[in-house]
Amino acid sequence: GALPGWDQVERLVHAAHERCRAHDGGQVADYIPVLAEVDPGLFGVVVADSGGEVHAVGDADVEFSVQSISKAFVYALVCEAYGHQEVLERVGVNNTGLAFNSVMAVELNDGHPRNPMVNAGALATTALMPGATPAEQWENVRTGLSRFAGRQLELDGVVYRSEAETNMRNKAIARLLESYGRIRTDPLEVVDVYTRQCALRVSARDLAVMGATLADGGVNPVTGERVVSAQVCRDTLAVLASTGMYESSGEWLFEIGLPAKSGVSGGIVAVAPGKGAIGTFSPLLDPAGNSVRGQRATAYLSRALGLNLFASS
Ligand code: GLU
Repeated sequence: GALPGWDQVERLVHAAHERCRAHDGGQVADYIPVLAEVDPGLFGVVVADSGGEVHAVGDADVEFSVQSISKAFVYALVCEAYGHQEVLERVGVNNTGLAFNSVMAVELNDGHPRNPMVNAGALATTALMPGATPAEQWENVRTGLSRFAGRQLELDGVVYRSEAETNMRNKAIARLLESYGRIRTDPLEVVDVYTRQCALRVSARDLAVMGATLADGGVNPVTGERVVSAQVCRDTLAVLASTGMYESSGEWLFEIGLPAKSGVSGGIVAVAPGKGAIGTFSPLLDPAGNSVRGQRATAYLSRALGLNLFASS
């Protein structure tokens, strides 16, 4: 693989888990009611390299809803379908400086959603998913993300229903985008596909393999299947570098130096282009919405494996 030898990576992944598991700072998300019921002690750390080797420690196979991490991979699928220029114009790539679910960010920009990692841009992106009906779009989301993971991903029906009952804000954002002509299909159907995409069940191991597929120019290094093109990976990773970690995206890039995406259920995927990816899961979040243990473990591994993109040696 593209990382140091197998024994060394294995040792470092164990060390990352060992060092970070005692940290119990942070809060579990509760704005989707059912997420508040998760065990806060869960913690998994996985490294997948672009040669297909996987190192997993702790709760690496515990499944949780992917939430906002889905935005990165749906974006890649939509870029694959529409190309660089059209997605750039319709969804954008600039940071909003506002919360991920901000309505004001949409209002301030003539209804332009700004970037695919905030909810407005994620909804505009999901609206572009190939498929003649919402059901077909959802199936294409599920099979597309499954190809990134290298296994069949399934919907968490409990999380889906819990969010579907409480997502008035996403419905409002979709209606607002519709009012500006930015969503051209039924906005509530778009929210439904988006809510399902957020409720797909993944593990930290899945996140590492999905990230390693982006690191590997779009070829899943475990299954050998090409999922998207190398250009799509480059575009997706650039967006993750500037907007993937909510309002801490700048600090994250400054400290850790890797494109990454987090979600409110506690997952993080961080990608080292050409080398591999780190997938972590721990539900305790900092105020920005990023997993506390996940950030620490990723920071440790980025340093120990020499992954920071901006380091010259
Ligand atoms: N499904 C969540 C929402 O749309 C995703 C939140 C997240 O992980 O940031 O609000």
